[in-house]
Amino acid sequence: MHKDLATLTNQHTVTCDLCIVGAGAAGISMAMDWLDAGKNVVLLEAGGFEFDVETQSLNNGTNIGQRYYALPATRLRFFGGTTMHWGGYCTPLDPIDFEARPYVLHSGWPISFTEFAAFLPAASKMVEIDNETWDLDTYIAGKENYTPLDLNPSVYYSKLFKFSPPTRFGTKYRKALVASTSITVYTHANLTDITLDEEGKVVEKVQAKSLNGNKMTISANHYVLAMGAIQNARMLLVNNKQHKQGIGNHNDLVGRYFMEHPEVKTGQIFLKRPQSMKLYFFDYTKIKMYSELAIAEAAQRAHGILNVTAALHPKKLSGDWAWINKLPEDGKESYDFWVQAEKQISASPPSDVDTKKYLAYQMQIRMEQSPNPNSRITLDSKKDKLGIAEPILNWQLTELERNSIKDMHTLLGKELIQSDVGRLHAPEWVFDTSLEWPATLGGGWHHLGTTRMHNDPKKGVVDANCTIHGINNLHVAGSSCFTTAGAANPTLSLIALTLRLSKHLKQLITK
Ligand SMILES: Cc1cc2nc3c(=O)[nH]c(=O)nc-3n(C[C@H](O)[C@H](O)[C@H](O)COP(=O)(O)OP(=O)(O)OC[C@H]3O[C@@H](n4cnc5c(N)ncnc54)[C@H](O)[C@@H]3O)c2cc1C
Repeated sequence: MHKDLATLTNQHTVTCDLCIVGAGAAGISMAMDWLDAGKNVVLLEAGGFEFDVETQSLNNGTNIGQRYYALPATRLRFFGGTTMHWGGYCTPLDPIDFEARPYVLHSGWPISFTEFAAFLPAASKMVEIDNETWDLDTYIAGKENYTPLDLNPSVYYSKLFKFSPPTRFGTKYRKALVASTSITVYTHANLTDITLDEEGKVVEKVQAKSLNGNKMTISANHYVLAMGAIQNARMLLVNNKQHKQGIGNHNDLVGRYFMEHPEVKTGQIFLKRPQSMKLYFFDYTKIKMYSELAIAEAAQRAHGILNVTAALHPKKLSGDWAWINKLPEDGKESYDFWVQAEKQISASPPSDVDTKKYLAYQMQIRMEQSPNPNSRITLDSKKDKLGIAEPILNWQLTELERNSIKDMHTLLGKELIQSDVGRLHAPEWVFDTSLEWPATLGGGWHHLGTTRMHNDPKKGVVDANCTIHGINNLHVAGSSCFTTAGAANPTLSLIALTLRLSKHLKQLITK
C-alpha cells in the first residue's frame, strides 16, 4: 500500500507491529523481508518517489573537519535513498574486520564474521549479484585471461569485487512494496519526533511531518531507524525532550566514531613482464566482477596495518621498457627515476586493456579508517525547513591511517621485488607521514560508525542485535552500527546486518 503524507490532510494516526524509518538500502531490504510475514509494517520515507530539490535541502549540513564532499551530495533523500546514485561495488567485510586488534583502538565487534556472513547470500540477492563463492581462485577458475599477479598470498592477494547492476532500490522494489497489503509505504513522511515512555526506556510513538505541514503519529511495537549514518545520529541527538543529551546518548557516544573509507591515488606499479590484467580492469558496465590488490590478514596483523585495497588502473607507457631490469631494488631511493618514468605515462587509461597488455598501473587505494571518537556528527544551531537542527560533520583521521599507507606501500614494494613481478613507485607523501594528505584525498561516500555496536553501553550505542542500549524497542539498521569500517564498500555488508536484525525482530514480534 502507498500513502502520501503530503496529501493526507487530517491528523493521521496509525498503529503497527513494526515501523521502519528510511527507504534506502537498509530500510527497503528490511521491508522486503517482511512482505510475507503477515504483520502490519509501516515504512516512512522522507521524500517522494522522485528526486525533488526542496526535500533534498533537508540533507544540508556543514563540514568542519578534514576536507570532504558537500553533505547533500553524499546522500539522497527520496524513495530508494542513496542507492539511486550508488556505484554498485560489492565485496563483503573480511574476517579480520570483526577482530579486536591491539593496534586498532576501539576495534572488535560483538558478533563474529560467521554470524554476519550467514546473511550475505540474502544480501547478495537484494543487490542482484550472484550468490557464488567470494574466493577469487574458485570464482575465476576456467575464465580465460583472468590472471592474478603472482604475489605471495600471505602478504598480498587479489580480492574479489562483484558489481550490482547497480540496483536502484527505489525502482526495483517499489512495485512489490506498494502492492503489499501488510506494508504501508508513507512518502513525504519525515521523522521528526521520537517520544519515550515516562521511564525513558520504551518508544511510545513517533511523529512524521511533510514539508507542506501535514503530520502523522505512528505507534508501533518496534521501531527501526534506517536513515543513513549521519541522519540516524542526528535524529537521536535532536530528540532530547526526555533525555537531554539525546536518545541512546547516556555515554556521549551517539554521532562519535564517524568513519569513511579514505580513497586516494598513491603509487604506480610497473610490471617487469607484460601480462593480462583483465582481472583488475575497471569496467563494471560490461564485466560484472573485478579485483583489487589487498593486504593479507597475516600481514596486517604482523605489521599493524589497517585493512586496505588498491584498484589498479592501467596506464599507457611509451618508450622502451627493457630498462626496468636496471632499476635499484628500493622504490623510494629511485624516486627521481620514477618521476621521469611517470612523465612517460599518458593521463588516460587505455580502453583496450582486456586485449592488450600494459606494464604500468596507477594505484587508487580505499582504506579502513580507524574508529576515532573525535571524528563525529554534532548539531548546528542552524535548522532545516522542518525546524530540525542541521548536522555538523567533523571528519578526523589519525596517524594510524598515514602509517598504514606508508607500511602497506613499503611491504608491496618489497613483495613486488621478491616475487620478481615488478617495481613500485609512490609519491613522497606516502613515505613521509609529516607531509599533508594530498589534495586528491577523498572518501568513498561511505558513512559509518555513528551508532557503533558494542556489548558495553559505555563503548557502543547499539548492542549485538542493533538495539539501542536501554531502549528495548528501538533498533538501528545500516552502517552507522559498524564497530570498525573494514576497507570494503559497505552496502552489501550493511544489508546483511539489516537482514540479521530483521530475523531478530521476527523472533520478538511473532512471539
Ligand atoms: C556517489 C555514491 C556512490 C556510492 N557507491 C557505492 C558503491 O559502489 N558501493 C557501496 O557499497 N556503496 C556505495 N555508496 C554508499 C551507498 O549508497 C550507501 O552505503 C547506502 O545507500 C546506505 O544505505 P542506507 O539505507 O543506510 O542509507 P540511504 O540509502 O541514504 O537511505 C536513507 C533513507 O532514509 C531517508 N530519510 C532520511 N531522513 C529521514 C527522515 N527524517 N524520515 C524518514 N526518512 C528519512 C532518506 O530519504 C533515504 O531514503 C555510494 C554512495 C554515493 C553517494
